[in-house]
Amino acid sequence: MSYHQATYDERLLNEFRSGSTFKIPGDGSAAEKLLPSGMARKELPLPSLAEYDAVRHFTRLSQMNYSVDLGIYPLGSCTMKYNPKYADKIVSMEQFAEMHPLQPDYSVQGSLRIMYELQEYLKKISDMDAVTLQPLAGAHGEFTGILIVRKYLEDTGQLDMRREIIVPDSAHGTNPASAAMGGFNVVEVPSDSTGMVDIDALRSALSEKTAALMITNPSTLGLFERNVVQIAKLVHDAGALLYYDGANFNAILGITSPGIMGFDIVHFNLHKTFATPHGGGGPGAGPVAVKKRLEKYLPIPRIGFDGKRYFEDFSSDKSVGRVSPYYGAFGVLLRAWAYITYHGSDGLEANSRKAVLNTNYVSRRLSEYLSDPYGGVKKHEVVLSSSNTGERALDIAKYLIDNGVHAPTIYFPLIVKEALMIEPTETVNRDDLDAFCDAVIGSLKAGHEDLHQRPVNLSVGRIDEIKAARDQILTWSAIKK
Ligand SMILES: *Cc1c(COP(=O)(O)O)cnc(C)c1O
Repeated sequence: MSYHQATYDERLLNEFRSGSTFKIPGDGSAAEKLLPSGMARKELPLPSLAEYDAVRHFTRLSQMNYSVDLGIYPLGSCTMKYNPKYADKIVSMEQFAEMHPLQPDYSVQGSLRIMYELQEYLKKISDMDAVTLQPLAGAHGEFTGILIVRKYLEDTGQLDMRREIIVPDSAHGTNPASAAMGGFNVVEVPSDSTGMVDIDALRSALSEKTAALMITNPSTLGLFERNVVQIAKLVHDAGALLYYDGANFNAILGITSPGIMGFDIVHFNLHKTFATPHGGGGPGAGPVAVKKRLEKYLPIPRIGFDGKRYFEDFSSDKSVGRVSPYYGAFGVLLRAWAYITYHGSDGLEANSRKAVLNTNYVSRRLSEYLSDPYGGVKKHEVVLSSSNTGERALDIAKYLIDNGVHAPTIYFPLIVKEALMIEPTETVNRDDLDAFCDAVIGSLKAGHEDLHQRPVNLSVGRIDEIKAARDQILTWSAIKK
């Protein structure tokens, strides 16, 4: 398949000389009546466009883009699955879309029931005892989890002593960031040569100063932490809590769970695992689940059910408080509920098994060309390195995009040089996997010089990344000047 991305010399909206004869219903006078006259602006310095000009403008821009609806999007750690359209359809139903968050409980029983059932689903999936749906992203879930650690330590008189949170060197950057934002000192432990947490290093890092250990399992290396039960015992024997970064749930649904592994606190990334499109940074939801002894610290309100009606439950007086307005990201919660309901436990497990199989297929094909620093069977993703080839991961990524295949995550995790972190997910077929592998292999055969010129088939050529990071012009008024 040859590929040439659509290219338009697209103008900015205010450069359009838009026609004004095209009529659409609604001229803004209704809004004028609602606003007190003193508050309504007479002029708004926005371009005035006909609907067809606006629609065509954004459609052309979308054709110059790549999306999860166009093809494989193997961005490791981000879990960029295809998002089924029924989930969007349900979220757009006016019964949900036009609900107001301040409606009284009796008038939104159906929506409260959905949130209550989602809490129950997440408890079952994770084998934990209680859930809050409030956090708005994975990182926000981590922060909420750290607030719970803090409150627990305060409540049990240990906060002055336990000031350290241990994080492995393969962790996502949000883990140490959340720990630091929660007021703890971060202690890093290295991985051993097989990508597992170095147990001796962990033993010597653990002490009466440890508040918690945060780990991701399977890790960002796509490897299952074999010693997780031993790790849980070491952490608990030291009097600390065990936090599970659930971004990689897609590898283990219905197969194992953080509850079984011995974790105390878990977050989910609903947008990664359960049907919400999250390109460009949002929207998301990062519910947090805990074991019984930590339930009283969860944010309030949670959604309760007394056998007859669903209600907002404010009953805990030890709660860390609210972490988001109203109920959290209801649209994301609703999509997750629909997805889990539709798939059922067998369907979710089948998805995980296929995601793992797809990853190992790519891993086997590509490890003949790229180095696999830790070896072993992979889970949801595989991290390979191009350092054996003399080519940079960045150049390979540019070549892939130039051939109509989205690039994997590169240069993460930080412990792998020239890392290509590939997560195919279950929403690709065998042809997609082969096309992706062929493109990676093609990049290595293209030759060093050719690789440096790429991309040549895209609307944008090679970007000066240093200038883009240092010299940002982010607002329209800055361009105008
Ligand atoms: C994505 C991710 C996070 C952060 O989640 P956000 O929803 O992006 O805030 C944390 N840890 C890991 C391993 C991740 O992949």
